[in-house]
Amino acid sequence: MANYVFGDIDGVEEGLNFKDRSALREAEIHRAPMAGIDGNPQVGASSIILNGGYVDDFDLGEEIVYTGHGGNDPNTKKQIKDQSWNATGNKALIVSEMHGLPVRVTRGFRHKSSFSPSAGYSYGGLYYVENHFEETGKDGFKICRYRLVKEKPMINISQSNVFSISNGNTETIRVPTTTLRIVRDTVLSRQIKELYDYTCQICQTQISAQGIKYAEGAHIRPLGKPHNGTDTLGNLICLCPNHHVMLDKGVFAIREDLMLIGIDGEINLHKEHILDTDNFEYHHEHIYRK
Ligand SMILES: [Zn+2]
Repeated sequence: MANYVFGDIDGVEEGLNFKDRSALREAEIHRAPMAGIDGNPQVGASSIILNGGYVDDFDLGEEIVYTGHGGNDPNTKKQIKDQSWNATGNKALIVSEMHGLPVRVTRGFRHKSSFSPSAGYSYGGLYYVENHFEETGKDGFKICRYRLVKEKPMINISQSNVFSISNGNTETIRVPTTTLRIVRDTVLSRQIKELYDYTCQICQTQISAQGIKYAEGAHIRPLGKPHNGTDTLGNLICLCPNHHVMLDKGVFAIREDLMLIGIDGEINLHKEHILDTDNFEYHHEHIYRK
């Protein structure tokens, strides 16, 4: 099985042009030779290509509504039957959404957008799948759709010579966007979530959407400056989104005996999971506010 790489590929900057699909494949941006979605339901989707395959796609630059695969006639591009959420690539994109995995986006010359190159393929950077939904497409069949939002603002395309604006629109389209709350998966957070079977260690909630489970790996002592918490199993717990936000906002703290301060409850601890209680203390002192 292919070992998928998620996120940036060394040496490939946003805006870089590739002459064809094999060049994209060689650069390891998108390795599937034909499919628009590169990935599988086990690991998620690492990359997508927009290249005019579906009439329903739309592209505002930093926001994309992408149509899943299946059900179209390869010659006319018309939808001739319903798409399925269980199709390999479609499921893979839901996995990317549920695990907060970055998806590389590449635009091809056939994709109708002012962000598309006039020839070949242009790498557009990293996006996150914000949500997925079902619609009836322009041709009258069910389509699987995904809203993707760019990780970082777009580079100024009007000054970039790799793009050719064919429809005369040289303005970068900016639209109001909602703030994304994406909790990215790391190797360790995935491990902790699996240990608890995606069940919140406080309220025992297990969220499952279309068979894909969702929980969040929460750092007790926050990562990064000025807190400098560690990304280790001793500093990670498996929480539902509510309890994660409450932990981060200091609504509750955790006592050494695992009872909660500020709200009722306790941390349910797996016997193989050893927490570093110094992190509880740090969180209590610096983050928890009654
Ligand atoms: Zn919870």
